[in-house]
Amino acid sequence: MKYVGAHVSAAGGVENAPINAHAIGAKAFGLFTKNQRQWKAKPLTEENIQKFREYCEKYGYGPGQILPHDSYLINLGHPEKAARNKSRDAFLDEMQRCEQLGIDRLNFHPGSHLNKTDEESCLKTIAESVNIALDKTRGVTAVIENTAGQGTNMGRSFEEIRFIMDHIEDQSRVGVCIDTAHAYSAGYDLKSEEGFAQTFKKFDQIIGLSYLRGMHLNDSKKEVGSRVDRHDLIGKGTLGAEVFIRIMNDARFNGIPMILETPDPDKWQEEIAFLYGAITQ
Ligand SMILES: [Zn+2]
Ligand SMILES: [Zn+2]
Repeated sequence: MKYVGAHVSAAGGVENAPINAHAIGAKAFGLFTKNQRQWKAKPLTEENIQKFREYCEKYGYGPGQILPHDSYLINLGHPEKAARNKSRDAFLDEMQRCEQLGIDRLNFHPGSHLNKTDEESCLKTIAESVNIALDKTRGVTAVIENTAGQGTNMGRSFEEIRFIMDHIEDQSRVGVCIDTAHAYSAGYDLKSEEGFAQTFKKFDQIIGLSYLRGMHLNDSKKEVGSRVDRHDLIGKGTLGAEVFIRIMNDARFNGIPMILETPDPDKWQEEIAFLYGAITQ
């Protein structure tokens, strides 16, 4: 079973996310559990939590069909202590929100070295940040998203992600999300059949397919290896529709949330329908 959806709005309360997802025919959804551009957020109320759970049940979204995204402000690899601690507190808060909502995973960007430390120590700092959050929560998996490698962002290669994972204590609560646009911009040539096969063979060898806890389905505005993160509509970018048709017909991607983060929310319903319509097997 494929669970395809989009990163929907939670404006007005997290409980609106499952409603918005259902309205566009999604079988999965992504969301921010707090305003992603602010450090501080009001705690979730009992009403938020209860209604979120109620709508998820009503519309058939189990924990494995929901992939929240952490705030863009968080940098778990920040080389400076005060800023790092601020990020760690915010990340813990997000993990706890997932716990409260009954969501079993949280997608996050690894972090950036900001040219103030070397890559290896940045990766170790990220792992340590994740360890701290895992230690204080139960039942939520930290899902590392691969990046395009823009600027000083870590996590563009499977090797870097593996390095972080190797330094995480609880292996049962670490996972990976592959963003197709990021992978392509980072230099993984998913576009051709051969390149696609090679990429996921490498993924399995270096990370392990059993750690794949979600995908972000995005076309890219930029060429392979550009290291620039610009999403495009499915089939309209440099990747093209073929790769997404291939994903929809590949059983390795069953049973995980597959989330569109394409630039036009008005197109999500159409994109979801296109992807489901592409299933031939
Ligand atoms: Zn992301
Ligand atoms: Zn993404």
